[in-house]
Amino acid sequence: MLDVAAQNGPLIDRLTEKAAEVIRSGHYILGPEVEAFEREVADYIGADHAVGVSSGTDALMVALMALGIGRGDEVITTPFSFFATAGCIARVGATPVFVDIRPDTFNIDVEQVAAAVTRRTRAIIPVHLFGQACDMAALSGVATKHGLPIIEDAAQAIGTKSPAGPVGSLGAFGCFSFFPSKNLGGFGDGGLVTTQDSALAGKARVMRAHGSNPKYYHSVIGGNFRIDALQAALLRVKLPELEGWTSRRRENAARYDAAFSASGLDESLLRSPPRRFEGHIYNQYVLRTSRRDELQAHLQAEKIATAIYYPVPLHRQECFAHLGYAEGSLPVSERASREVLALPIFAGLGRARQNRVIDAVIGFLSR
Ligand SMILES: *Cc1c(COP(=O)(O)O)cnc(C)c1O
Repeated sequence: MLDVAAQNGPLIDRLTEKAAEVIRSGHYILGPEVEAFEREVADYIGADHAVGVSSGTDALMVALMALGIGRGDEVITTPFSFFATAGCIARVGATPVFVDIRPDTFNIDVEQVAAAVTRRTRAIIPVHLFGQACDMAALSGVATKHGLPIIEDAAQAIGTKSPAGPVGSLGAFGCFSFFPSKNLGGFGDGGLVTTQDSALAGKARVMRAHGSNPKYYHSVIGGNFRIDALQAALLRVKLPELEGWTSRRRENAARYDAAFSASGLDESLLRSPPRRFEGHIYNQYVLRTSRRDELQAHLQAEKIATAIYYPVPLHRQECFAHLGYAEGSLPVSERASREVLALPIFAGLGRARQNRVIDAVIGFLSR
């Protein structure tokens, strides 16, 4: 699905030099490399403030904690996401309220968000799934009407632009991940919180360091959500390459789109991911097919890696059974879970390998 070692290969000299520099500096947590990275990545994203944290999951924790969300509160989110989106809501003591997704983009259905607001609602967490922006103009309208902050889960969407502006700059907070499979992957865990509000940036920094301000004085309870200097330093080496890698991903996506649309296969057999807005960064290329499991087995036999994001929507996870979402309660997400299949899309995929994937997909589904 993803050859991270191949991507890092051409940068190996600069990466090892940078790693040695950090090792010699003796400064391993936060510090000047982190501050420089925060400035550079905020600039790339198009956000005013960036706070480096220990993972994308912890970025969500910091955002929720900085907004004071906890017991008795409800947070509206999508059930079609990585677990952390809802897991963090539950971990701060709040209740995730799931609303269904749009059938085309896999992103949260804004009309259903409006209908789910209650007097306990304290925030909305949309996810820019697979690298495609949610309809942020519409969502901001709902949020403003009810006075609710938006926390953008942009873990899969670094550099994604939406008609409303760059993702990560459109809510109270944006949350990013540097997990190795994300478009900007680190060498371990790492994450980032962005915001346009300097007071919120300050709160996020305090939450990142156990809620201490000044050191050893705690008016709030935070956690250890700090990013390592080594991660920040190595991500600084990779950041200038990101735009080029994203272009390759877009080219790969366009090649899949063209081949699949030329295949003449019926929509139920093969549907390419729709591009609702420009500025998709294609962290994943996810097609839909009614023959998903058979297709995946066939591709596996052909030694072509694929993945299912996500096989069980969050409202149907065992740990959320007490929330009482029956099977069929969010049918668009449930159907997506049965039909989605992610194909290799990484920058270094190459024509020959991609053609093999295309031929195998179309060949199988044409039978
Ligand atoms: C990857 C991801 C996260 C979590 O990021 P980590 O760095 O792995 O903790 C959260 N939300 C979404 C949508 C993700 O894809």
